[in-house]
Amino acid sequence: MSKVLKGSFELMKQLNIAAVLKVLRTGGKRSRAEIAEITGLTPASVTNITKFLMNAGYLNETGIGESSGGRPPVILELNPEARYVIGVDLGVGVIEVVIANLEAKILVKKTIKIEDKEDEKVYNIVLNKIISMIREIIDESTIGKEKIMGIGMAVHGVVNTSTGVSEFAPYYNWKKVSISQNVEDALGYPVYIDNDVRAMALGESWFGSARGIDNFITINISNGIGAGIIIDNKPYYGVDYSAGEIGHIVVDVDGPKCNCGNYGCLESIASNKSLVKKAMKLIKQGIETRISKNKKNVEDITIEDICEAASNGDETAITLLKEAGRYIGLAISNLVNTLNPTQVVMVGEIMLSNDYALESIKGTVKKVGFELPAQKTRILQSTLGSNAAVIGAVTLVLQEVFKGKEFAEKQ
Ligand SMILES: [Zn+2]
Repeated sequence: MSKVLKGSFELMKQLNIAAVLKVLRTGGKRSRAEIAEITGLTPASVTNITKFLMNAGYLNETGIGESSGGRPPVILELNPEARYVIGVDLGVGVIEVVIANLEAKILVKKTIKIEDKEDEKVYNIVLNKIISMIREIIDESTIGKEKIMGIGMAVHGVVNTSTGVSEFAPYYNWKKVSISQNVEDALGYPVYIDNDVRAMALGESWFGSARGIDNFITINISNGIGAGIIIDNKPYYGVDYSAGEIGHIVVDVDGPKCNCGNYGCLESIASNKSLVKKAMKLIKQGIETRISKNKKNVEDITIEDICEAASNGDETAITLLKEAGRYIGLAISNLVNTLNPTQVVMVGEIMLSNDYALESIKGTVKKVGFELPAQKTRILQSTLGSNAAVIGAVTLVLQEVFKGKEFAEKQ
């Protein structure tokens, strides 16, 4: 067979396998006849592909369906424990590593903090920490190394997904590091990488609040603020992979100085760090609040302290969250006016324990957004919660696994 013909034949095979996997991944249990009907493949093809996938351990027979006259059909389902993937979140000040199954169910998780000190943020130190965390988690999980399909990395900052290079990670202050290649060289698994918030958006569309939705935005509010934009079911990257940097939309021209050098960026006003800073200032001025009630030192308060105080009715904390919500809502209304998405999925600590920030965001978008999109766009909390980034990282690998390339080569 000529090379071109062989290539297109393999691609065809791969697409057919991917179609069968998709039916079982998204639709649950199915008979072969149903799979053939949904995919448009011939019954013979479906029999062939499912036989191969069963031999590889990907499918289980779960029982017998109802007969429509002839022999009752065998029902198939995906075996989520057939293979495993590793997800890494390299966020602002924190690294999380997980092992998950094919349904993104987390089996083991490890978290470490990277302090705000210069010597902790050197590239080689961070890289070695990630590599040793992955090695430890594989050992602890007792999963056979051959069952691990790859490593997904959700990395803070600007990430070039085609070269695997972390172009710029503001918190770590490094530029142009080949993080994907370095991890792959050290561990021998394929590595897939994207910006952390874009990975979150992918995770939301596979496993979270955005299943079946083609146009949506995920917004992460942490020490940094960013957006993952999905247009027509595809992530939008921008020419230089920096689309979604909404933390640097100016929301107050007279606002405080931001990390990026400008003044009044959203991140300088509504990030976790800036809320903590504001709370510390108020406490030092002697304001009555429960925010610091569990802390000896005012300098030790965290975003969780603010959220907990708000949940207990503390007026200062509630005001801080509502005010942050107003500024975040301003930025979101600009996005909604520009992109007209179906929904906006909010991720971040200030969304978790109470609704003050979320309600304030919704109210602001309704009030200042252009009427048609602003009234219709749903703004909701992520159902993946604090695992949004690692599940996003895991999904970076799963989307490759479910493309079926590996099987097409082996079949
Ligand atoms: Zn900025």
